[in-house]
Amino acid sequence: MSDMAARLRDVTREYVLKGETVRALRGITLDIPTGDYVAIMGASGSGKSTMLNLLGCLDRPSAGLIHLGSDNVSELDDDSLSEIRATRIGFVFQAYNLIPQLTVLENIEVPLFYQKNLKSNVRKRCVELANLVGLGDRLKHRPTQLSGGQQQRVAIARSLVNDPYFILADEPTGNLDSITTEEILNLFDNLNGEGRTIILVTHEDEVGSRAKRIIRLRDGEVEQDWRKEAGAAFSHQRPDEVVHWDTEQPEGMDEISN
Ligand code: ADP
Ligand code: MG
Repeated sequence: MSDMAARLRDVTREYVLKGETVRALRGITLDIPTGDYVAIMGASGSGKSTMLNLLGCLDRPSAGLIHLGSDNVSELDDDSLSEIRATRIGFVFQAYNLIPQLTVLENIEVPLFYQKNLKSNVRKRCVELANLVGLGDRLKHRPTQLSGGQQQRVAIARSLVNDPYFILADEPTGNLDSITTEEILNLFDNLNGEGRTIILVTHEDEVGSRAKRIIRLRDGEVEQDWRKEAGAAFSHQRPDEVVHWDTEQPEGMDEISN
């Protein structure tokens, strides 16, 4: 496995809208090592979704280089991009995006349909993933028979089935109450503790503060890139104790200079 999950060099993305050019990303350069846990934050319009689309191979940059692991994905054609998307990226969405007709186990298996060589131990691996997210006793349930938090657990298990470069999570707790949010964030902590790379987009400070690193975008540029010091006790802050990143650098976060 490459020691770098993602590398971005001078990445720009411009949209042309009614003859006007919108510069959604204006030259992003950063490295996301394997095993990192990154929260991408920033105001509405700062470029978060654009960045997520690029990392998720849903889109190509206007200029610049993007490597995921050892793959240069900046200039791939649509078919190659969709293959990487299907086989090397673990998506987790705010709305879970499960298939209602399928059971828990079948939903976890869905990304494997894109694999050319299905291995015989696939079913066993999916059961293990269901166990990993605490749903080993719900394998035959359908999404409508599960709570929101349980549905998101299925989505997280599904995201891991292909051994992805990273889990790419778009507001993963946006539909969940605070207790369930805590459960999902604990699950991310555990997965990251096992070495999984997590990149999530959130506008909630309580969620962002659980990551190891916060990248804050502003007008398409990296405004802040903070990493938690080893052992910093951020992870157990209650929401009312969370520092608001806008105003000051939170204790335990070091600015990263590129
Ligand atoms: P965020 O997710 O942080 O709200 P976006 O990445 O969605 O930000 O948008 C960044 C900028 O790019 C905004 O100014 C937005 O209006 C613009 N933008 C995003 N997508 C498009 C598009 N498809 N066409 C034109 N402009 C876009
Ligand atoms: Mg957005």
